[in-house]
Amino acid sequence: MNIIIFGPPGVGKGTQAKIIADKLKISHISTGDILRDAVAKQTELGMKAKAIMDSGGLVPDDIVAGIIQDVLKSDACKFGFILDGFPRTKPQAVILQQILDKLNIADLKIIELKIDREVVVHRLLNRRGCINCGSIVNLLTLEDKNTCPVCGAKDSFFKREDDNEKVIRNRIEVYAKNTLPVLDFYKGNVEIISVNADQDIPSVTRDIFSALGID
Ligand SMILES: [Zn+2]
Repeated sequence: MNIIIFGPPGVGKGTQAKIIADKLKISHISTGDILRDAVAKQTELGMKAKAIMDSGGLVPDDIVAGIIQDVLKSDACKFGFILDGFPRTKPQAVILQQILDKLNIADLKIIELKIDREVVVHRLLNRRGCINCGSIVNLLTLEDKNTCPVCGAKDSFFKREDDNEKVIRNRIEVYAKNTLPVLDFYKGNVEIISVNADQDIPSVTRDIFSALGID
């Protein structure tokens, strides 16, 4: 099964993508991770991307798409994939479609995680990093709000710079303006599964699996 997962920042895309990938034994392709990976492995495109990032630039769509293509062609994706973080714009969707056509990949499904804007702002404002182990946690879901649930450190939480309200609202606005219209690109051609993401993690997973016909 091949899936693209969409949703605003803070909705839990990465978390759900990982659970789905584990369950279906397909590859979780997180754009940030594969970019870092290509740089670390010093692939041709990875070196190009690094040079651009080092000079403070944004990696252009064709390089990101090339790195995605390399991953889609690899053995890791022979049972399918779930793509998380790409495409974020219509031009990226067009490039991705060219790659999928070239690789003869059909059988695509879209999962859209839907949530009210204010709910996601509230969630992101309660997000903290653990200075001891690097985990990202959410105070809203922690019973003991002073202890890291991953490493057990006390009072180790800090607020990340990009988790302030202005930045959060701007990122959500960018999603609404640039990324949501990407769904129109797929409408009519690809099955789009919309799931209410204003629930706890297991409930969102349950709704996704049920829509995919998996128990
Ligand atoms: Zn920790």
